[in-house]
This record gives sequence, C-alpha cells and structure tokens, in this order.
Amino acid sequence: PSATANQKDKSDRATNEQVLDPRTRIILFKMIGRGLLFEVNGCVSTGKEANVYHALTPERQHLALKIYKTSILVFKDRDRYVSGEYRFRRGYSRHNPRKMVRVWAEKEMRNLKRLKAAGLRCPDAVEVRENVLVMGFIGDSDGWASPRLKDATIPASAVSNLYVELIIIVRKMFHDCKLVHADLSEYNILYHIESPTSSTSNPELPTATQSEISEDAKVPEEPRGHLYIIDVSQSVEQDHPHAFDFLRSDLKNVEDFFSKRGVKCLSLRRSFEFVTNPDLKGDGSAEDILRKWIEEDSNADKQSGFDDGEDDGDVKGDEDEVFMRSYIPRTLNEVFDPERDVGKLQSGEGEKLIYQDTIGIVAPKAEGEDAEKSAQTKVRFEG
Ligand code: ADP
Ligand code: MG
Repeated sequence: PSATANQKDKSDRATNEQVLDPRTRIILFKMIGRGLLFEVNGCVSTGKEANVYHALTPERQHLALKIYKTSILVFKDRDRYVSGEYRFRRGYSRHNPRKMVRVWAEKEMRNLKRLKAAGLRCPDAVEVRENVLVMGFIGDSDGWASPRLKDATIPASAVSNLYVELIIIVRKMFHDCKLVHADLSEYNILYHIESPTSSTSNPELPTATQSEISEDAKVPEEPRGHLYIIDVSQSVEQDHPHAFDFLRSDLKNVEDFFSKRGVKCLSLRRSFEFVTNPDLKGDGSAEDILRKWIEEDSNADKQSGFDDGEDDGDVKGDEDEVFMRSYIPRTLNEVFDPERDVGKLQSGEGEKLIYQDTIGIVAPKAEGEDAEKSAQTKVRFEG
C-alpha cells in the first residue's frame, strides 16, 4: 500500500518535533556510512521517552530504531528503577541527560539479549550507539509493525493460550533471565504472526500448540500468533529491592487484560507463586503444570459457587486486592518474625505464608532443629 507516503509524512513531522537533535543525526549518518543502515523511515511510534523508527538495511531487511529522547525532564521519574539496581552503581549521572539516556539504551540492549538467550520472543538486539538502539523489526515483510497486544485482533480460541504463553514468559524471564519486566502490559507486548519468510528468528518455546502444528503438518493451518516482549529498558534484576512489587503489578496487568477477555486466570497470588516458585511440583513441563493450576482453580471456583458464568466473581477480586496490598518481603532479613512464621507453617496452623514460595521456605520437618536456621538454609534469593 502507500506505506512510503505515509511514512514520509510521519518522518517530516518527527523532524519538525525536533526529536533528532544534531548529535543523534550524526549517529544515524554514521550508521548509514558504515553500511549498517540504508535509510531511516518514519516513526512507528512516538512516546514520552523515545520514538521508534522504521529503517532498512542495504539488503532491504527491516529494522527498528529506538531513539531515546535526551531532554532532561523525560528521565526524572525513572529513579525508582535505578535506585538499588546493582548495574547502576556506577556511571549513572543524574545531571547529564545524554549519559543517562545512554545507560538506558545500553540496558535495554543487554536485557533484550538476555531474553533472546533464554529463548524468549523479542526483537533481536543489533547494536546501541549512545541514545540509538538498533533492533530487529517485529512486523510484516512490507514494513508494517505488528500490533501491540492491546490493539491486536485475536481469534477467541487463541486468547487463553496466549495467557498461558505470557505467564510462562514471565516465569522464564524471572528464573532464566533473572529479570522482572517492571512495565509489562498489553502496551509492551507485540502480537506477531510469523510469516514463513519473516526474518525474525523463531525461538523454541515449549508450547503445546507448537508441537501440535509440527505433528499436523499435513493440514495447512493458519499460522499462529505469538507474544513478543518489548520495552525492557526499565526491567530490573531479580534482586532489586522492589522486584517483587514490580512483578506483582506486572501480573496484575496481565490478569486485568486477559480476564476482561474472558480468560480464566489464576488469582494474583497463585500466578505470583507460579512465576517465582523455583521447584514447581507436578508432572510435565511448566506449561503442563500451569494448565493444571488453572483447571484446579476454576474447579474450586465452581465448587465455592462464585463461578456465576458471568465474570470472575467478587471472591477472587477480593483475594487479589488483599494480595496487592500485602507486604512481600524481599529476603529473610525482612521477615518480621521468622521463628513464629516457620513455627506456624510447621504446625500447619494459620494461613499459608504469602512469601513461603517466593523465598523458598520449606516447612521444616526435623524435630529439634532450629526453625530459623532451617529456614535460612532454604532461602534462595537472598539479596
Ligand atoms: P516506549 O518507551 O515509547 O513505550 P517501546 O519500546 O514500547 O517504547 O516502543 C514503542 C512502540 O514502538 C511499541 O509499542 C511498538 O508499537 C513499536 N515498536 C517498538 N519496538 C519495535 C520493534 N522492534 N518492531 C516493531 N515495532 C516496535
Ligand atoms: Mg512501551
């Protein structure tokens, strides 16, 4: 279609918006000079902190350029991600916006690589120069970007599989990449249907449907869409002091999105447990276990009579609200009274501890063993 006219239009506007300051333009010219880029086209997206442009390589491969804005105001409210982050101990200058932005761009590049290394779907990180991040383009062969999950038209039959796919992604990010996205929502996930000729690599996610497809190869099936994670510059290390809070709100966004679309989701507390628990009990893959948990939860809902067939009911909503407000300790040091809590666990009395699985406490069985000591030996993520 008339993509070029439209993109030309947009690129003019972008230039007028003065996004490309002279220094950024020099970076782009150098990339063209080196033969990394052939041309830079219009904006795919204009955001508060960055704009994303479409570009072509000399081989006419599509690329996405994320160009961070270098105005000082933009990055002020990012402090909450930075404080407590090990990788920011040095080299983060609050007073030099160019330096600051460079750190964010580099961080996004490293995080994308971690995701890729764990076999997760995301753009390929190509290179970063100051405020310019060059990455693989998630879109079709004509250069149209794939929609955000928010805007995607998804076949009704596929929605619940995407929920499962996403929870598995969050779990893999947590355990394999040691990262929490920290801005995960339908805005930062692209719904991409891989075309057979697409240049985007196809990592092996262990989804049931994928193996179904390869086995049913005779039946020409509609290609299935998958979720691609983007916008990982603010993602935090698992040991960030607020990692669990970020994870909890990431999961809240996921649940809100999918339950509005009629998917039976786990309660927040259960999805949090599923993502963080290092040793899931059960047979089969993590995905098999997740599907079983979902099944169990929805049966429990039916029994407790709040599955009215209309929505999730209030009981789960209340439970989620309590969980949103609960305090989640990061380490055992933050646990108010470990002896008391472990004692309660041991006697099977009282409520299940919210943090039992997240910090890996296992109810100690050995008699006479010092409860606190026993709990401490089981702690996994002490920060
Ligand atoms: P922001 O900080 O502005 O939210 P994002 O990384 O979320 O930046 O990118 C903004 C938008 O640009 C995304 O919602 C998506 O539509 C588009 N986009 C980002 N990266 C890519 C990519 N690699 N391929 C295609 N589109 C992309
Ligand atoms: Mg975004």
